Amino acid sequence: MEKKPFLTESMAQDIIQDVPTPFHVYDEKGIRENARRINKAFSWNKGFREYFAVKALPNPIILQILKEEGCGVDCSSLTELMLSEVCGFSGSDIMFSSNQTPVEDMKKAYELGAYINLDDATMVDFLDRVAGVPENIFCRYNPGGTFQLGESKEGFQVMDKPGDAKYGMTEEQMIDSYKKLAAKGAKNFGIHAFLASNTISDAYYPELAGILFQLAVRVQKATGVHIAYINLSGGVGIPYRPEQTENDIMAIGEGVRKKFEEILVPAGMGDVSIFTEMGRFTTGPYGALVATAIHEKHIYKEYIGLDACAANLMRPAMYGAYHHITVLGKEDAPHDHKYDVVGGLCENNDKFAIDRMLPKIDIGDIVYIHDTGAHGSAMGYNYNGKLRSAEVLLCEDGSHRLIRRAETPRDYFATLDFLPFMKPLLGEYNDD
Ligand SMILES: *Cc1c(COP(=O)(O)O)cnc(C)c1O
Repeated sequence: MEKKPFLTESMAQDIIQDVPTPFHVYDEKGIRENARRINKAFSWNKGFREYFAVKALPNPIILQILKEEGCGVDCSSLTELMLSEVCGFSGSDIMFSSNQTPVEDMKKAYELGAYINLDDATMVDFLDRVAGVPENIFCRYNPGGTFQLGESKEGFQVMDKPGDAKYGMTEEQMIDSYKKLAAKGAKNFGIHAFLASNTISDAYYPELAGILFQLAVRVQKATGVHIAYINLSGGVGIPYRPEQTENDIMAIGEGVRKKFEEILVPAGMGDVSIFTEMGRFTTGPYGALVATAIHEKHIYKEYIGLDACAANLMRPAMYGAYHHITVLGKEDAPHDHKYDVVGGLCENNDKFAIDRMLPKIDIGDIVYIHDTGAHGSAMGYNYNGKLRSAEVLLCEDGSHRLIRRAETPRDYFATLDFLPFMKPLLGEYNDD
């Protein structure tokens, strides 16, 4: 099954009139509809809230769209908190799920009244010392060992190793921390865990919920504290590959509801609010990197060179991640050419696709790289002096809007502005 772009060639050409390639483009309609599906899937839970993981797509216009759909934000750094604040998020709109947290970041989260999620038992005293203990407080759980799901879709096994992960604390540490926090004045407690990433399975959240709900019952018994929130965090995946099936968020919500009825309700804990912190699932499929084929090269393999590189989308280079590619205008052409589709970094892992069967690509063709709506532009970097690309919103009415301009050389040199001889590259540089 071929993956369908949300842009046609002529829509892309329209945008290119205003914004040259490469750019990331996001589908407002797709994002809004998905946020509504998420909220509907968990509407059985009175206190449910999706806290969008800001790191996945830290664009203020996107955050405001998600805010309009009722989402909060999940932050893990000072700048993510600052960005969220300026977008109108405050207090209970914000989860602060950080680790190795600097003093300034913790202070800011406390000042905003965010739900603070402690990654380690030693953070109890740290929080108390640098900011104070708020009424609402979360601790992050790590069960250790291996996390595996019995079921898998199309043979894609879900497995991760919490025992090797740097996050969270043991059950004993959770219990100690809750007791200490209660003694310092905390009133409402939350449990948080992130056990597996990019899960293509409707069973991940229900399985995780089962583990956390049982933990909640044990912790409440052991400490007497009021467990008010359980945060399933992120990890719900998307079908990057055409042969993968997308997760069914309604089935996922229903699976979590069953565990809730089975475990929490009989324990007299039916007032617990469920939170999620999805990034990838919320926006991933609704973004694309649009680039132009600028060179072709024939040596031992066939190469197509794009005006985008790994600095615009790092996942293939970093994780060997698959991103589907559509050559716009050639959707129905036979995929009878085998290419490596590459960027211009002086790094041989700068390849968007390796040995990929595609239609014959000509110089000037517009290449649409799918599923960059989460952990795409956000992971951009400046290696080789490459500049980060623009971001464009495809609005619900079909028009488009620039929501982040492309970097210019002046941005790249800005951190050298204290060196007098850099002035020619800063003050007088003409962006055009
Ligand atoms: C990265 C992250 C998320 C989002 O993860 P996705 O894979 O995008 O769903 C949520 N919570 C925390 C604490 C994270 O670090």
